[in-house]
Amino acid sequence: MSSKSAPGPWDRAPWDMLRARSGFRLEDLDRASTPGWDEGKNRAADRLEDLGEEMSGLQERLYAHGRTNGHRRVLLVLQGLDTAGKGGIARHVIGLVDPQGVALRSFGRPTEEELAHHYLWRIRNALPPGGRIGVFDRSHYEDVLVVRVEGLVPEATWQARYAEINAFEAEVAASGTRIIKCALMVSHEEQGARLLERLDRPEKHWKYSPGDLPTRLRWDDYQEAYQAVFDRTSTDVAPWYVIPADHKWYVRLAVAELLTRTLREMDLAWPAADFDVAAERAKLLATMTADHRSIESEDEDNGARRRRNG
Ligand code: AMP
Ligand code: MG
Repeated sequence: MSSKSAPGPWDRAPWDMLRARSGFRLEDLDRASTPGWDEGKNRAADRLEDLGEEMSGLQERLYAHGRTNGHRRVLLVLQGLDTAGKGGIARHVIGLVDPQGVALRSFGRPTEEELAHHYLWRIRNALPPGGRIGVFDRSHYEDVLVVRVEGLVPEATWQARYAEINAFEAEVAASGTRIIKCALMVSHEEQGARLLERLDRPEKHWKYSPGDLPTRLRWDDYQEAYQAVFDRTSTDVAPWYVIPADHKWYVRLAVAELLTRTLREMDLAWPAADFDVAAERAKLLATMTADHRSIESEDEDNGARRRRNG
C-alpha cells in the first residue's frame, strides 16, 4: 500500500491495515500495537478532535438527506469481548456528532419475545432509518459467537448462519446502507486488568457481571469463534476491521477514521430545495423592516457558519 493513501499523520491508511482479508490470522494480532500510527496518544487526541469536526459536518448532510426522505445511512457494528471498549466508542467517537442523527442500539441476551422470532428479527427492527448513523453495540454476530461457544443451538444451526448473515448484510447494503464492522480485540492480560478495576472501584461495579468470568474462561473458544467470523463474513459490502484494543485511544482514533472515511465517500450533497427559494425570500423580506434586513445580512456568526457549511 502506498503511503500516499494514508490520511493525516498515519503511516499507512487504517482501512488498509485493519481490514480482515482472506488469510488473516487473529493469533498473529498484537493487541497492544497501534498499526499505522506512530505518533502516540496526544497526537491521536488532536487528530480525533479534527475528525470530530469533519464528521459533524458530514453527518449534518446525511441527516439533511434523511429529513428529505433520502434512504442512505450508515451502520457501524461493534463487537468485542467484555471490556474491549465498545461503550467508549459510543461515548468518545459517536459522541462527537449530533445525537439526533444517531440511532444507537445494544443487544444483550434475547428476551422471551425475541427468542420466539428468527435471530435476525430484532436486528432488522433496529436498523437505522434513512439519514442516520446506526450503531450496534453487539449485534447478530452474537448469534455465531456466544451462541456457538455456549452451544445454545445445534451446530448445524449456527453453521448455516454465516451465509445467512452475508445474505442479510448484502440486502441491507443494497438498500442504501454503508456497513462498517469493527471488532475490538483486547488481550487476555488487559481484559484481566480491566475486569479487576471494575471489581476494585465501586463506581465501576455496575459494569461488572458475574457472567463475565465464565466467558473469560472460554477465551480460546471465543478467539476461534471470532476467527471464523472474520474468515466467513468479511465481504466487500460489509468488511470487518480488526482493531487492537489494549490502547483505548487507538481504538477510538481508528473507528473515527473508518467512520469519517465512509461519510466522506458517500459524497452527500445538501438536499435541493423543493420550493422556490427566490420567491420565499422575497415574501420573507416583505415581512421585515429595512433595519432588520440589513442586520440579517451582516450577522457575522450566521454568515461564517453558512459559508463553512457551503
Ligand atoms: P453487555 O454487552 O456487557 O451488556 O452484555 C450483554 C450480554 O448479552 C453478553 O454476555 C452477550 O454475550 C449476551 N448476548 C448478546 N446477544 C446474545 C444472543 N443472541 N444470545 C445469547 N447471549 C447474547
Ligand atoms: Mg458486560
